Amino acid sequence: MLYRGRFAPSPSGPLHMGSLVTALASYVDARANKGEWLVRIEDLDPPREKPGAAKHILSDLIIHGLHWDGEVIFQSSRLKAYESALSYLIKTNAAFKCICPRKRLNNDGTCASKCFLRQHYLSEKFAFRFEYDPRASIKINDFILGEKIWKNQDLPKDFVIRRRDGLFSYQLAVLVDDISQGITHVIRGSDLLDSTPKQHEIGSALNFPQLKYGHIPTITDTEGKKLSKQTFAPPIDGNQAVQNLRQALLLLGQKQPDNILKTPSGILRSAIEFWDRNTIPKEMTLTNLPIKN
Ligand SMILES: [Zn+2]
Repeated sequence: MLYRGRFAPSPSGPLHMGSLVTALASYVDARANKGEWLVRIEDLDPPREKPGAAKHILSDLIIHGLHWDGEVIFQSSRLKAYESALSYLIKTNAAFKCICPRKRLNNDGTCASKCFLRQHYLSEKFAFRFEYDPRASIKINDFILGEKIWKNQDLPKDFVIRRRDGLFSYQLAVLVDDISQGITHVIRGSDLLDSTPKQHEIGSALNFPQLKYGHIPTITDTEGKKLSKQTFAPPIDGNQAVQNLRQALLLLGQKQPDNILKTPSGILRSAIEFWDRNTIPKEMTLTNLPIKN
């Protein structure tokens, strides 16, 4: 089977246990399927970035034995590719300019002023929105969570693909990059699950091959809060790489590597050998993790 996976962090802070779990799952799934594994830095939103974070993330991956194939791609160097995808969508009437300010949008975030009827007259600062006509529903076979269905009424009829300030949206950039890098399988956190039908539709409009998606449940901390940079999840300690990998495998419901394995590469070899997508739990919590330092 042709398999090329990837890990695509944004440089908004160091790796925490949640991002390590995602990186590890995508790495091990790729290697267990004799596939390649790439790393891409999603640095499209300068105000959210922390200086030095990209370097820190890459060095944390190496410390944990997560060695990638090929060059690391930075999204900030890919703007021409996004422009070109946007031009195609405009040319095929799948994207339109919208001048609606945030507070005047519909409740579901869609354009409220029929901007698409006035395309030639809009000269103010505008966003570009992707417009589509979702069929009765969109069905995605998630290779971790199983079949997921989004009903027509749950999907917005348009959404932003380039913001008023000129920044490209995650939805467009990530898909253009996945396709141009030849990615076949995407493993990412469930917080991005609702992006999947949107990316599916953009992909159809651009005549892209469809990707296979697997979503890892979001990890909650001992107080039930989602573990993320926004909730100030603590960074992982690079000096505890073996323990970090053991904890991540435990959260992923995988067999614990033998105690005699004391290096990241040994732990990873075992993880690849025993990897089982079917035992990834539907919920992950940091409560009562039995592994001590
Ligand atoms: Zn509008």
